[in-house]
Amino acid sequence: MKSRKLLMIPGPIEFEPEVLSALGQPTTSHVAPNFIQSFGNALRMMKEVWLAPKGQAFIMAGTGTLAMDMAASNLIEKGDKVLVISTGYFGSRYAELLVRYGADVTFLQSEIGDIVPLDIIEDELKKDDYKLLTFTHVDTSTAVMVDPKPIGKLAQKYNVLSILDGVCSVAGEEIRQEEWGIDVVLTASQKAVGVPPGLALMVVSEKAMEVWKNRKTPVANYYSDWNNWLPIMQAYEAGNPSYFGTPAVNLVVALEKSLEIILKEGMEARFARHQLMAEAFREALKAMGLKSIPISEEVSAATLSAPYYPEGITGAQLLAQVNKEGVILAGGLLPEIKNNYFRIGHMGSINRADTLATISAIEVSLKKGGYIFEDGAGIKAAQKALS
Ligand code: PMP
Repeated sequence: MKSRKLLMIPGPIEFEPEVLSALGQPTTSHVAPNFIQSFGNALRMMKEVWLAPKGQAFIMAGTGTLAMDMAASNLIEKGDKVLVISTGYFGSRYAELLVRYGADVTFLQSEIGDIVPLDIIEDELKKDDYKLLTFTHVDTSTAVMVDPKPIGKLAQKYNVLSILDGVCSVAGEEIRQEEWGIDVVLTASQKAVGVPPGLALMVVSEKAMEVWKNRKTPVANYYSDWNNWLPIMQAYEAGNPSYFGTPAVNLVVALEKSLEIILKEGMEARFARHQLMAEAFREALKAMGLKSIPISEEVSAATLSAPYYPEGITGAQLLAQVNKEGVILAGGLLPEIKNNYFRIGHMGSINRADTLATISAIEVSLKKGGYIFEDGAGIKAAQKALS
């Protein structure tokens, strides 16, 4: 694998060899006993990873956007009031999506790099009779991390359902869905969950399932309708064959393997490892004189970093050079500042060696681009943080 480069974008990420090997097993029938067992195991393990033992897990063929779509279309009826709390690109996507289902959306947008303050969210919840709020745990366009706990509690206080877009956080950032009272936590396979792209995943609270059961109108999205999928998830968990749409058999088997690896590490250890790697990146970037989008450590993600290019360095040049050094990074995504920053994913199987190799590639590339800073400052700071 001499030509292999280290994939350090915020999804898809580097996957564990056992996961890739599980993915490459011969495809079985979707009602084969072994597959039924794998699907059931994956559903059960999701609830452990999400820390939501009483929730209803869903595993769908699709991407994270489908998970957003499924949660919205099942919980929203025409005219329902929804508060969208946005910290970047994916908050805007949620608002756009909700409007398609007839939601009456109020949009709270943070300043770039910051979060929406809790008192502003609470003032808004006091003002109107909201049915639902959505928020993004880590907006992948800004690397801003929102603390879900107080927002989950606020939603409960005002009897509003809550959806957490955890696409860039689940299995990386700390989430305690049940304890924090969050109704839906959704994600996609290709990020910290550690499975190649193609699965939309979520766990739904008992309360949200109850609200869905009491709908007055049919779910507007046929494919996503829980009427079609709930019996399938229940059958797989009970060990029985069932069919609505053909599941992504190989991806589900790979998911079972990845969830086993995640739980073997343990959620607390996994959260701590992500924090440590993120700190190493933050310290290294700071030491190299690079400013990041999140305005403080408190609102910085553990799963990715988003540094601005320093003066005199252009994005295309830097990313191409980093690539030559053997590491793949991502460019900017937030339209307003897209060309001013880049993104480093550090989630899932990330270890010390990946972290140091990435920082080293950035450091060498900045030097080659003519940016002046102390030799080895990034690596030194990262090593200190990691030791
Ligand atoms: N939400 C967030 C926070 C994301 O990072 C992404 C993907 N980058 C999505 C939603 C959409 O997921 P997908 O690309 O799998 O549809």
